[in-house]
Amino acid sequence: MSVYFDAPVSATDPLIAEALRNEKARQQDQIELIASENIVSRAVLDALGHEMTNKTLEGYPGARFHGGGRYVDVVEQAAIDRAKELFNCAYANVQPHSGSQANLAVFFTLLKPGDKVLSLDLAAGGHLSHGLGANLSGRWFEAHHYGVERETGQIDYDKLEAQALEIRPQLLITGGSAYPREIDFERMAAIAKKVDALFHVDMAHFAGLVAGGAHPSPIPHADLVTCTTTKTLRGPRGGIILSKSGDYEKKIQAAVFPGVQGSIHTQVLAAKAVCLGEALQPEFKSYARQIKNNAHTLAETLLGQGINLVSGGTDTHIVLLDLSAHNKTGQTIERLLERADITSNKNPIPFDSKRPVDWVGLRLGVSATTTRGMREAEFSELGQMISQMILAAGTEAEEAVIQKSKKQVASICDRFPIYS
Ligand SMILES: *Cc1c(COP(=O)(O)O)cnc(C)c1O
Repeated sequence: MSVYFDAPVSATDPLIAEALRNEKARQQDQIELIASENIVSRAVLDALGHEMTNKTLEGYPGARFHGGGRYVDVVEQAAIDRAKELFNCAYANVQPHSGSQANLAVFFTLLKPGDKVLSLDLAAGGHLSHGLGANLSGRWFEAHHYGVERETGQIDYDKLEAQALEIRPQLLITGGSAYPREIDFERMAAIAKKVDALFHVDMAHFAGLVAGGAHPSPIPHADLVTCTTTKTLRGPRGGIILSKSGDYEKKIQAAVFPGVQGSIHTQVLAAKAVCLGEALQPEFKSYARQIKNNAHTLAETLLGQGINLVSGGTDTHIVLLDLSAHNKTGQTIERLLERADITSNKNPIPFDSKRPVDWVGLRLGVSATTTRGMREAEFSELGQMISQMILAAGTEAEEAVIQKSKKQVASICDRFPIYS
């Protein structure tokens, strides 16, 4: 026995061990409604904590810059093959360290600095890696944004087409982190074609729904597709780039390494392969379907209690609340819900204030709770609790309503345990 090689963190580092222990308990004892989160399998955790992390490798399977890579080659090839099978595409790069890195590699592949991109506005549900001024994508490219309609909360494709004709972007981007509806990929591809733009879909949020057959696939329509393995796909933190054809293969390979990254995160690669393998199982289809049913139940329950939703509902795992009619901010309600052990996040809604403290949106997502096994009955109960807390916020009843919800949450969490 060697302390260095064998002692667990609980024996060597009390500060970190306690934080880890507390985090695990927090995940068991709170209801996770943050739309970008999920709960990975023990198999994914095993891979993440594996000795494979010690291996440094650059390059691609069969063409590495270091020796000793034969087992990582097995893992990377499996991840590539599984991604291609899962998303029915000709090319996959599984190395990006995150969704943002995958997007950066796409820009590196398709654009020159100063080129124009047209992407979904952040307040309309877009993502900061699609051209926000404070992000490298917004500094190095000329970013323009399309929004959604005030009445529908959805993209107006005729308007988008007119805007694209005026701007003439080199790249049209869609996908986001708070757009609760399906996007018309076919129409967007036609718009891109009409203005000689390339078309990139970032399906970070809904990749798991696509994988499970519960959402249309952007693959046949886009030049390049990126996603995270983290969110609905239920894997480790990381990104993937996919393409229907091998047209960009050489350029993407070079854009990821050495374009924007160095060595690969070998243990994460193993975890990605495991999660992609899980997503290929028939149970994943039921999971994806249940996500949609649960989100629908949550949305209908909230609407039934008089809570407004951006776009009036959802086609995905995301439900975006508009609290303006209740004169409440997202931050107020996020904090209120956390007192009842429900985690969520404040979010801008279309046409919202620029200041995060003034945002009137609250974003909820059902992927993590669905992984725990919760179904329509629990989401109906959750929807009731959340509405009651919103309606009681700032009134005399507030504390009592929170305490009642907290007890209900504890009971639900007990019934749906995670890791033993
Ligand atoms: C989450 C997300 C990303 C970023 O992924 P990271 O792994 O956090 O870098 C990129 N694009 C969209 C649309 C996302 O929702």
